[in-house]
Amino acid sequence: MRSEGTGPLGRVMVISPHLDDAVFSCGELLSAHPHATVATIFAGTPPAGHTTTDWDRACGFRSACEAMVARRNEDASALLTLGARPVWLNFLDSQYCDGSAGATAPQADDIAESIALLVTREQPDAVLFPLGLFHSDHDLAHRACLAAWQARSSQVLPGQPSPRWLAYEDALYRRMDGLREQRLAGMNESGVRASVYPVTWQGDRAAKAAAVACYASQLKAFGPGGYDDTADPEGYWSLDRAGLLHAAA
Ligand SMILES: [Zn+2]
Repeated sequence: MRSEGTGPLGRVMVISPHLDDAVFSCGELLSAHPHATVATIFAGTPPAGHTTTDWDRACGFRSACEAMVARRNEDASALLTLGARPVWLNFLDSQYCDGSAGATAPQADDIAESIALLVTREQPDAVLFPLGLFHSDHDLAHRACLAAWQARSSQVLPGQPSPRWLAYEDALYRRMDGLREQRLAGMNESGVRASVYPVTWQGDRAAKAAAVACYASQLKAFGPGGYDDTADPEGYWSLDRAGLLHAAA
């Protein structure tokens, strides 16, 4: 069911690898699409006894459990600022998948299934997912979302509402030379054509900046200047795949 007054894309669901990526990459879009859902894939907490990682120490945490509790709180505050709602999936961040304390790496198929179920449950008008430009978790999130898109598209009957699937540029990583072009070329080789999706909404830059500031522990680790890219214009890509049914324009 489509809702009025939710922004040009209608009801939006943003798929986020970590507890910050959706806001860093799509904060202005979220500010222009109230009542959005932000589903974070790697929001799970590793088993008790897991060793603290270098990144968590840089963020100021003494344990993985403490880190994940704080990150979820930061995410809740940031999304409240933007009028969005969090959904936290329990897959583990790769930094916790070193085999210690029984922590194992999630599989793309399992993530894809969870995303497809979530889309079926939430019925958004638009699903946004990362290009997955850098970091194994971002790449995994990207591949899982492509698989979910494909699975859902093959199940949709003609005339049945289906969300529009768009890719967003991963903030911070998109500044790294050649990664975006490499990803777009790779997608093209696998039959997915991407073209720039024009931003037709008026985002609230101040609201995005306030939301970004909520991720205090992450910002501490990125350091001064390490997240300047979040203030630059956001980038979106529409996708088309031969042989798949896709969202009505
Ligand atoms: Zn991330």
